[in-house]
Amino acid sequence: MPIHEKSLIRPENILSHEKLEVDGVDVSGHWSTFIQDRVVTDYNENMEDEIAALPGGEHIHRCWQCGSCTNACTVNALNPDFNPRYWIYLIRQGMESELLRDKDIIWQCVSCHKCTHVCPRDVVPEGVMKATAHWLELKGHRPKSHSMIFDEVFSEQVFETGKIEDGRVIRGFFKRTGQALTQDWMVEMVKKVVSKLPVSLMTRMGMSALIRPRTRHWGPAREAIREYVDEQKQRERAALGLNELVAQAAAEARSAGAKQESSHV
Ligand code: SF4
Ligand code: SF4
Repeated sequence: MPIHEKSLIRPENILSHEKLEVDGVDVSGHWSTFIQDRVVTDYNENMEDEIAALPGGEHIHRCWQCGSCTNACTVNALNPDFNPRYWIYLIRQGMESELLRDKDIIWQCVSCHKCTHVCPRDVVPEGVMKATAHWLELKGHRPKSHSMIFDEVFSEQVFETGKIEDGRVIRGFFKRTGQALTQDWMVEMVKKVVSKLPVSLMTRMGMSALIRPRTRHWGPAREAIREYVDEQKQRERAALGLNELVAQAAAEARSAGAKQESSHV
């Protein structure tokens, strides 16, 4: 059973008449307020399964719409439009176009986990928010977020070397997101930290930045991790129907190429 929050009613759907009389009764003003019906024709019946297939979204089916997550949410306290309970409802109903109206704020979840802490059904709403933000990117509704790009740079380095070198991760992240490699806040932070670090640690960090150390005998682990990650990505794409789209686009391109060739014969 959905919860009807006043804030979710679109102003353009509220109708009232300044002057109206029905069967001799004056119902002018707010007495004649009506909420227009909404007609949704583009349900995505697979939407709950699509979100559930992404990391964090696995338990979305457990939600019973109590609203505790929204009530506890840090971002909702600042912006009432940020409403995890409502988005979970839309996803479970398959109301994709309704969810897309909020696509530019869903990524704002700050991962404070307050919602997860209060949820009586172990839905892990924080995970559902992450899965939904990921879903929006995979489906092309949003550009890749900075946090997603950071995850990619970080993971690539672990897969490649079996180690993390912070400076290299930060440089890679700035480069990929088109940011200047030196930033004022970073210079300030380095100045403060450098004076407090032991010389031996500083030397090791400097060497790591130059020589890119690797974990010994990392090769087999790297191959196994890559294989696993590729399998997971294929599985996610399949759940979202994206593999079919790629195959369909490739088939169309092949058929267009074949037509062109035959017209040249
Ligand atoms: S983790 Fe995200 S959705 Fe949950 S309470 Fe914090 S900001 Fe809100
Ligand atoms: S707290 Fe849990 S059960 Fe309640 S609305 Fe949020 S996700 Fe659903």
